[in-house]
Amino acid sequence: MNDTKRSATLGVSLVGLGLLAFVTMGVDTRQANPPASPEKALEISATVETHPVPHDEDAADDLAIWVHSTEPAKSTIVGTDKQGGLGVYDLAGKQLQYLPDGEMNNVDLRGDFPLSGQQVALVTAGNRSDSSIAIYRVNQTSRLLENVAARKITTLEVYGSCMYRSRKTGKFYYIVTSKKGEVEQWELYDDGTGKVDGKKARSFKVGSQTEGCVADDELAHLYIGEETVGIWKYGAEPDAGTSRTPVDKTGTGGNLVADVEGLAIAYGTDGTGYLIASSQGNSTYVVYRREQSNQYVKTFRIAGGNGIDGTSDTDGIDVTTAHLGPAFPHGVFVAQDGHNDNGNQNFKLVPWQLIIAGIRNGDRLRQDFPGSLRTPRPELSPL
Ligand code: CA
Ligand code: CA
Ligand code: CA
Ligand code: CA
Repeated sequence: MNDTKRSATLGVSLVGLGLLAFVTMGVDTRQANPPASPEKALEISATVETHPVPHDEDAADDLAIWVHSTEPAKSTIVGTDKQGGLGVYDLAGKQLQYLPDGEMNNVDLRGDFPLSGQQVALVTAGNRSDSSIAIYRVNQTSRLLENVAARKITTLEVYGSCMYRSRKTGKFYYIVTSKKGEVEQWELYDDGTGKVDGKKARSFKVGSQTEGCVADDELAHLYIGEETVGIWKYGAEPDAGTSRTPVDKTGTGGNLVADVEGLAIAYGTDGTGYLIASSQGNSTYVVYRREQSNQYVKTFRIAGGNGIDGTSDTDGIDVTTAHLGPAFPHGVFVAQDGHNDNGNQNFKLVPWQLIIAGIRNGDRLRQDFPGSLRTPRPELSPL
């Protein structure tokens, strides 16, 4: 499509959809990702599911993957139970710990946080019980979480949250979003006594209700989901300002169906890889290129298979391309499941190479993993 046609199409579709924000903000009037051809979503099955969360109804929400630095098969999933706490699961889905610390909605983590002369993995969650930042370190030996919050750090009325580690300054940040469409970015630091404190570094408005967010640490981007509108790309540094570009949108002309929920980044080499979004309204996951203008790549869903039900109404997601031992040799994609066939909500784990192979082949894969899929070639990951 040439630029003239693109502008004309954009103008008509924007009026039709009422998405005037893309124009009136005056920031970037490029069309967000053009819609996919109406192909059927790729279907892939999970190979592992976690124990259900303790609370019933809508309780599980978001998760983060902790990668064990020396024994990758001992990596864990930290998942939220937004009715009351935070769970830790091993890669077989077994619950190792449950912390009834409050209504944790979203969770994220970053490694190598300097605390009392050690490098620790820091986990943060937005606690909706009191709009505070829940802060833990991962005990490398026990794999369990230990509370290291210096105090009750109260933020805006928390909804979503994520983390960012600056390559430029080495600083770590907690980013929190709200139902009013507001964002706050908090710098996290060692308070000198082995605890972690925070100070607000910036705040800005996105628009309407926002929850999911993810930062690209290498490229210094911050992606935010405006639930009924689409995905925005901001600068992640606290002095980056509020200029933004649309990545994709809901409704006609977009690849997303509201709500836009969890966002995750699959890091490849040399700045490549993928941005993935949970398109909750049609229970799919939308894949974009991580680099440049986040070109649309593929849509997939997690279908039933391997004795595990498929996922639907997904909130949070996370992905890693790190080797996690024999069950997940090229990493894992994990999604919250809004309707678990066997009890309360839980999290489903999909080997990352199945998604990569599906993206590349564009067809349904045989699902009787392991064994059916040829041994993944080394170049399949990272990609
Ligand atoms: Ca939900
Ligand atoms: Ca939401
Ligand atoms: Ca399900
Ligand atoms: Ca959610």
